[in-house]
Amino acid sequence: MEHVSRRDAIKSTGLLAAAAAMGTWSSPARARPVRTRSVRVAHLTDLHIQPERRADSGVAACLRHVQEHKDAPELLLLGGDLIMDAFEADDARTRTQWDLFTRTFENECRIRTEPCLGNHDIWGINKSKSRTTGNEPGWGKKRAMDLLRMERPYRSFDFGGWHFVVLDSVTPQGNAYIGKLDNEQWEWLEGDLAGTRLPVAVLSHIPILAATQLVIQPNKDSKKREISDSLMMTDAPRFVETFAKHPHVKLCLSGHIHQIDRVEFQGVTYLCNGAVSGNWWKGRYKMCDEGYAMLDLHADGTFESSYVKYGWKAEE
Ligand SMILES: [Zn+2]
Repeated sequence: MEHVSRRDAIKSTGLLAAAAAMGTWSSPARARPVRTRSVRVAHLTDLHIQPERRADSGVAACLRHVQEHKDAPELLLLGGDLIMDAFEADDARTRTQWDLFTRTFENECRIRTEPCLGNHDIWGINKSKSRTTGNEPGWGKKRAMDLLRMERPYRSFDFGGWHFVVLDSVTPQGNAYIGKLDNEQWEWLEGDLAGTRLPVAVLSHIPILAATQLVIQPNKDSKKREISDSLMMTDAPRFVETFAKHPHVKLCLSGHIHQIDRVEFQGVTYLCNGAVSGNWWKGRYKMCDEGYAMLDLHADGTFESSYVKYGWKAEE
């Protein structure tokens, strides 16, 4: 993937230097500002690693593709649903999937990785199907957090001149879950956003805002359109309100619905970046091929993003 903004930046820097050398540079203040790239980041979501359908080879191929770019990213954001499913899986099956995940990343990934949790990474919430009681060590989010070395399921960090917020967007409810932050996380988020002046990118598994689901979901009742509480954050209005108070929030990245979706609203861009696994390793899912997003984030809060297919051929 050719990188336009950086090439342009280098070119114009060269021109400015040449102009200065020739004594024709009248005033630095009047020169066109050069927008330099702060950091290149890859966003891989919905990996759904499992022993079947060569999913581990697929993830390995994707990681190689990411790292083989001439201008490779410096940070890898993982958008959750790292394994096929622990929500309804027993202990042995859950362990097998995490072993595969750990091995694949140990063998293939040389870049700093920052993960968030997806619904399928949470163990045993459906107790009858997973044959769990809820008292097992590692039940719920614990096992994934331990394996991924996460002290809390949500956190933030600064990297390359941006502030990254990693959310825990999945709230278990009964045998299922909804998209929502609890009060403690909301309080933390508001404090965290107030504590930085850097441009902010938010990472969540479930999209805060996404339009595609109105198209991909069957619309049985023409008088009423509904979006499931598990497909988009139920507290989306509060996010919009909160971000309005913090205009340095520029970008929200998500996965979950395995579609490529871009919503611009109130100065924030919401990108849902497809799925590494496409149709859960069965090929293309509706309008989405197996792929990942490559993003260039600039110091002034602007960015470019593109969805990159890594050429995976699903097992017949
Ligand atoms: Zn998924």
